[in-house]
Order: sequence, then structure tokens, then C-alpha cells
Amino acid sequence: MNNPRGQPEDWSAFTKAKTTRADPLYESAKTVHNKRIDGPFRRFKWLVMLVTLGIYYGTPWIRWDRGEYAPDQAVLIDLANRRFYMFNIEIWPHEFYFVAGLLIMAGIGLFLVTSAVGRAWCGYACPQTVWTDLFQHVDRFVDGDRNARVRMEAAPWTFGKLSRRIFKYMIYLVIGFWTGGAWIMYFADAPTLTVDFWTGQAAMAAYITVAILTLTTVVLGGFMREQVCIYMCPWPRIQTAMMDEKSLLVTYKDWRGEPRGSVKKAQKSPDEFGDCIDCMQCVQVCPTGIDIREGPQIGCITCALCIDACDKVMADIGRPRGLIDYATLEDCEAEAAGQPARPAWKALMRPRTFAYTLIWGAIGLGLLFALGARSHADISVAADRNPPFMLMSDGSVRNSYTIKLRNMESQPRQMEVTLNGLSGGRMWTETISSDEAAPSQIFDVPADQTLSTRVYVMAPADTMAQDFMLELTTLDEQRETDSSATKFAAPGDK
Ligand code: SF4
Ligand code: SF4
Repeated sequence: MNNPRGQPEDWSAFTKAKTTRADPLYESAKTVHNKRIDGPFRRFKWLVMLVTLGIYYGTPWIRWDRGEYAPDQAVLIDLANRRFYMFNIEIWPHEFYFVAGLLIMAGIGLFLVTSAVGRAWCGYACPQTVWTDLFQHVDRFVDGDRNARVRMEAAPWTFGKLSRRIFKYMIYLVIGFWTGGAWIMYFADAPTLTVDFWTGQAAMAAYITVAILTLTTVVLGGFMREQVCIYMCPWPRIQTAMMDEKSLLVTYKDWRGEPRGSVKKAQKSPDEFGDCIDCMQCVQVCPTGIDIREGPQIGCITCALCIDACDKVMADIGRPRGLIDYATLEDCEAEAAGQPARPAWKALMRPRTFAYTLIWGAIGLGLLFALGARSHADISVAADRNPPFMLMSDGSVRNSYTIKLRNMESQPRQMEVTLNGLSGGRMWTETISSDEAAPSQIFDVPADQTLSTRVYVMAPADTMAQDFMLELTTLDEQRETDSSATKFAAPGDK
């Protein structure tokens, strides 16, 4: 009998029964000992792994000649000088929209990949996948393939097992350390920082960053592995919402595989059994330890190693490949209904994929155009407003301004600044005396720097308050120009 709130009358007994029941609330994670496999997808995974790790570890060591006034590291995040260098491109803080554009392109690129080939990012190029794969190869190198590792895990602790574990964890630490060490190289000149690091002269932040990244790499890639993908990462949930019945997924074709039976049983009564011989090879090679025959699931990162495994089994028993394959839900239904299988690449040809590609390409072209068209010199002006002007003894009026001349080239430049729209106006600076006052002045701006200087502008008596321009022209072959509008304050100014 229930009380008015809908709870059982004997509520305490009910809750007690719930909390003292024998079933555990959480299942302990089981270590995944995935088996070695060879095949086209595994080879592609090797390639992606080599390329991504090569890029990550090797990029800071690439040199790029930018002349004597700029760093020669191809990719450098120069926090001290607030610059981002990427080969020929140098991004200044006021150009952060380029970085924002690249991030948007990365996001749309992920949408594109997800809508076309499901979780291919997770299966091949995500750092968590790449480093987990690397650590799994270390396990294989030290302890052997799957069966040996399963035996090793179940075996009692002996000197041999202990020394292997220590050796393996030492390799984990070296990988973690290299990963953290490579990261800090993106923020300073790599050869110099390496020497400073090992001689104890690097900044404390460098040692702390390496220590944190060593730890996170070993914990996330070496120990937590697939649990990061299944329980911690939000991306699988987001991707699931982006996929539809036309997205390519790694799929077990149950209408062809079921009912399962051993090779012997299938040979005896071929009509009773499907193509799956229940050999479990697809499960044993899976890096996240799932059984794809149970249907699409969040633990599947679509690495396609089960396709390699199953295709090999099918070849061995003389049945057609593709019992597990990349396929869309729509194609699976058509195939199950007896229609011929459609090549997987045709699933890529659909409006959504084209739309994402168009948007991605348009943003990329826009960024390229903005990069090509941007000026490497500019001027900004701020008028001093306290006092807004000074009336001289001869009736002329003087205003003062702070101008900033930005030179984004990696060499010093001369820039001429000219008054425009202020009749009879002349200017001088803190370093150019008023005797040399003239309608234009020339400034030496160091390479890759912004020159900030005080400028005094004098106009004849009776000049009214008005707007005028300060125009910049670089005195080199490029003859880049820029201008900034400002106001000349005078008596009667409102
Ligand atoms: S590898 Fe293929 S045949 Fe073997 S259990 Fe998996 S689906 Fe069945
Ligand atoms: S089920 Fe297949 S595709 Fe999915 S993670 Fe496992 S091996 Fe990779």
C-alpha cells in the first residue's frame, strides 16, 4: 500500500532492501588485451600514427629562415612577444581572428568527417587513440601478444613478472616525458630550451608543464585507455547526435552472420547457419574490448580493426569478405532486404557532405585571401585630452597625440607619417625638435615591433576644431599605406 506521496508505506524497509542488495553498483574495468592484427585498416592506422606522432614530436625542430630579426623556428608560440609563427605566416595578437578561423575550420572539419565516416577521427587521429595505440604496442613488445598478456596478468607475482612490469612502466614514463618535453618546445627555441632544460636553467613553468604532461600521458594513454573514450570524452555523445542513417559506421551484418555456428556445424548443415563462425577474432582485436556483433555502441571508435580480423577469417574459410564492414544503416536495410551491396564510397556523395565541404572550403579561402591581402604596416592614433589643446603666444594651436606604428615585417622599416586635411599643420616629436617641424616626419620602426611615440601637431592661429588624418607610407619597395582619423581640438571646440 502506498502513502499519499506515492511511496510504499514501509519506505524504510524498501530503501534498506535497495541499498543492501548484493549486486554491485559499478562494474570494475577489465583490462583490454587486444590481439595483433594485420590488414588494410591496421596499416592505415600505422600510417596515421607515424604521421601524427612525427608531426607532434618533430615540428619544433624544423628551422625556418625569417632573417636576423625573427626566430628561425618554423612553428613557435612566442608568448613573451605575443606572436604565433607558422612557417611563412606570423600572427599578431590583433589578428587572432585567423586562429579563430582555423578553430572554426577544425570544428566544421570534424562535422564533415563525422557525417561522412562516423567516428573516424576517434578511430585514427584523436591523440587519445594514437597514444593508447602506442602504449598497447609497448605492452605487446614487453609481454607478448594477447594470450601471453592474459596469462601474465593472471600469473602470481614473481621476480620475472615484477621486472617486466618495471621495465614496461619505465617505457611508459619515457613516452610520457617525451610527450611533455615536445609540448614545451612549441613555446621557445627548441635547441636552446633543450640545453636550458637539461642544465637546470629553464623556467620553472617548463619543468612543471613537462611533469604534468608526463603524468597525464601515462595515466590517460597507459592506464585509462578506452575508459577515457567511453566514460570521459563528451565527443562520442556529440557525434552520435550528428550521425544519421546515411553515415558510414562499422557494422556487423547480422542478416548474413546469424545464426552463428562453428565451421564444422556450418559444414554439416550449411542452411542452418550464417557466416559468423563465432571465432571471437573481431572481439579480441578490438582496442576498446567490445563485441561489434551486439550492434552500434558508444565504445566503438570505428577503427575498423574488427573488419581486418573478420575479413581474414572469411578468407580462411572461403566466404566473401565484408561480414563486418563500413556501411550505412540505410544500405544495411537495403542489403538485408536482398538488394546488392552499394560501394561504401557512394555514401560520401550526399548533400550534407557537400554542404560541410563547401562551408569549410569557403572559410579556408576567406582566410587565405585575408592572409594574402593583409597589410604589414599600420598606424593608430590617440589624442591627448588633458589638456585638449594649447594656445601659443602667437595664437597658433598645439595638440599632442600618441601614435603607434606597427611593423610586421622581419626587418626594420622607415615609415613616413603625413598630416592630411589640416591646412598649415606641422608636426614634431619628442625626438625630433620643433625647429624641424614639418607636415610629414620619418620614423625608424624596428623589425617585428610597434613603435609608440608622442607627436605634437601645430596649426596656425584661427584654425578651427576639425577632423584630419595621419597617413602612413612605408619607404621601401612595398610602399604599404595606412591612415588613421583623429580630431584637432581648438578654441571653440565643442
Ligand atoms: S571475426 Fe567474423 S566470424 Fe569471427 S566472430 Fe567476429 S564476426 Fe564472427
Ligand atoms: S568494434 Fe571494431 S571498429 Fe569498433 S572499436 Fe572495436 S575494433 Fe574498432
